[in-house]
Amino acid sequence: MPDKKKITLALKRGASCVGCDIAVVNFSEKLFELIEVADIVFSPTLLDVKYDDLIKMPDKSITIGLYHGAVRNSDNEEFAKIMREKCQILIAYGACAHLGGIPGLANVSNRAKIFETVYKKTFSTDNPEGIYPQTEWTDEKGHKLTLPEFYDEVYALDDVVDVDYYVPACPPTHVMNMQILNLIKGWVEGKLELPPKGSVIAEEKTLCDECPRNPGKGKKIKIDKLRLITEVEPDPEKCFLEQGILCLGPATRAGCGAPCIEANMPCRGCMGPTSRVMDQGGSMLSALASIFGVSENELELSEEDIEKFVSQMKDPLGCFYRFSLPKSLLHRVVQDK
Ligand code: SF4
Ligand code: SF4
Ligand code: SF4
Repeated sequence: MPDKKKITLALKRGASCVGCDIAVVNFSEKLFELIEVADIVFSPTLLDVKYDDLIKMPDKSITIGLYHGAVRNSDNEEFAKIMREKCQILIAYGACAHLGGIPGLANVSNRAKIFETVYKKTFSTDNPEGIYPQTEWTDEKGHKLTLPEFYDEVYALDDVVDVDYYVPACPPTHVMNMQILNLIKGWVEGKLELPPKGSVIAEEKTLCDECPRNPGKGKKIKIDKLRLITEVEPDPEKCFLEQGILCLGPATRAGCGAPCIEANMPCRGCMGPTSRVMDQGGSMLSALASIFGVSENELELSEEDIEKFVSQMKDPLGCFYRFSLPKSLLHRVVQDK
């Protein structure tokens, strides 16, 4: 339980699309309930603050810090470390901080290839001398300019600092934010204990376990072809997989409130896997194998079997590891040379 009646809160982004900041704004009128128990002392999106303001704060003076976004460059890492120093509790907020998220898909490439594409090969680039970003440059008058180092790979927050809690999803949904709000309020008021360090603030079951379209435990689904959501008009009552539409519910942690399913869109897996599963893509592959009638047991799958159904998918890596590549068993695909 915190010492004071009111705690302090800071938000800092790394390699982020800022959608996670917007998710906090989406607390809507509940934001007033949050600021009744927490003063937001740092947030470049919500407040007129400078990075120096954060740097000057005493260590551990912020009760809870939310870091969103992945760690793509040295600036992201530096501020992840500063947040760790300044905050008593550091939360990896959103899929990017939790598992690397969509920026983590860049781990299929490397710095050299990304620079070559962005600074040389794009049709709008005029760079005949092939000059790439440098971390330090001095002009003719001796002025030194610096840029953060662009890393060869993308990391999740806990690859660079110790993390206390994880809030998954891209971005965390309203249902999840209300859960966090109730937890913070209950804790500040002395009515609730915080969960054990390292907890993911979500469910331990899969999305299918709480999905209203789940055809029932005993019912076997069998399909012979995968269809794109754009190729069919999905039945709004029926399980997507039963309709041959790829839905990552079997390999995805529950707790988001299933907004996509409610909007008649299949799950893309942004909550990541449950703690019982090491690899979300592998888990989904095994679920698909059983509904394709290939096998009840992924250990029995032959390479030919796997190829048979993976070849039906346009982008298997992007579908299975859209949010979790840096924390998956694959981790990355190529190294810098
Ligand atoms: S988790 Fe999603 S919304 Fe949040 S920063 Fe990453 S990409 Fe943006
Ligand atoms: S596969 Fe998708 S639609 Fe079917 S039960 Fe699971 S989450 Fe629901
Ligand atoms: S339904 Fe799936 S994609 Fe949609 S918010 Fe939940 S976990 Fe993310």
